[in-house]
Amino acid sequence: LDTPLFAGLPGDVAVSFEFFPPKSDAMMLQLWDVVQALAPLAPEFVSVTYGAGGTTRDRTHGTVARIISEARLPAAAHLTCVDATKAEVNAVAEAYWEAGVRHIVALRGDMGEPGAPFVPHPEGYQNAADLVAGLKAIAPFDISVAAYPEMHPDSASPEADIDNLKRKLDAGASRAISQFFFEPETFFRFRDRLAAAGIDAPVLPGILPVSNFAQTRKFAAACGAAIPAWMEGLFAGLDTHPAARQLVAATVAAEFCRRLYAGGVRNFHFYTLNRAELSYAICHLLGVRPKAAAAIQEKAA
Ligand code: FAD
Repeated sequence: LDTPLFAGLPGDVAVSFEFFPPKSDAMMLQLWDVVQALAPLAPEFVSVTYGAGGTTRDRTHGTVARIISEARLPAAAHLTCVDATKAEVNAVAEAYWEAGVRHIVALRGDMGEPGAPFVPHPEGYQNAADLVAGLKAIAPFDISVAAYPEMHPDSASPEADIDNLKRKLDAGASRAISQFFFEPETFFRFRDRLAAAGIDAPVLPGILPVSNFAQTRKFAAACGAAIPAWMEGLFAGLDTHPAARQLVAATVAAEFCRRLYAGGVRNFHFYTLNRAELSYAICHLLGVRPKAAAAIQEKAA
């Protein structure tokens, strides 16, 4: 854990960035600033989430298509099974393929009502593994799936959750992106369990740079991620000190990623929440530097 992160430019780190589809023209402008700020870092890919029950279908499509055609970045579209027949989901996937989208993040999704148990549509895909198989039957998409270092709340046991991840990879996914977590050891233990289960596909740690602690607590409660007591203590008392809070946020995120890097992690997936500064700063600390536009476009091609 003593890697002198600030002493060298490793240049061996690959990053990806996740965005959500903007709800208004003003938010689209803001996202575009973020995309342009992060694009020079030549991410392996960026991805755009899909709202509960397909509520953002058109906005996700429009955002992904614009990132590919205007920012010339490799972009992935998230897609879920919720509240849709197989035919409806297949039609969305076919439209993506026609629009030049080659990478899908395939998810089961959650019911619209928070905490409600998942009930598959009677004519729909039953879960993410079923969706992956369906997508592969449509076109040779590159497919990413979700993984849970602290176990998915619906899972009977950590082993059952890893079996489920294995089913998604066996159905044709080529990598997984993890739910966020706040202790590097959580990811290292998960990585060991995956190796023991014979899973060798890349599993990218999902990094949520925390700046709004109250919002993070809400996200974590919804997905079962543990918030360490030390983190609560570090952000306490900073609600009315936004500049200091931002500096603390950067320090926490930098230390977190430094420890992941020291533990051998070389791929980082950032939940940007459509903000560039923290993700950019962490990338910089990890030795990721802007690249020429030509190199980025070569990656997108
Ligand atoms: P699955 O892999 O299908 O599994 C869900 C749970 O059900 C697991 O516990 C699994 O063990 C269990 N299970 C599945 N199949 C079986 C079976 N046959 N037998 C027994 N148990 C089974 N949500 C959105 O709405 N939009 C998004 O854009 C989005 N993006 C995400 C991106 C990432 C990187 C992550 C980590 C999550 C994202 N989510 C998104 C949230 C996700 O939809 C939820 O976590 C959802 O509850 C589970 O989706 P999944 O794809 O992991 O489901």
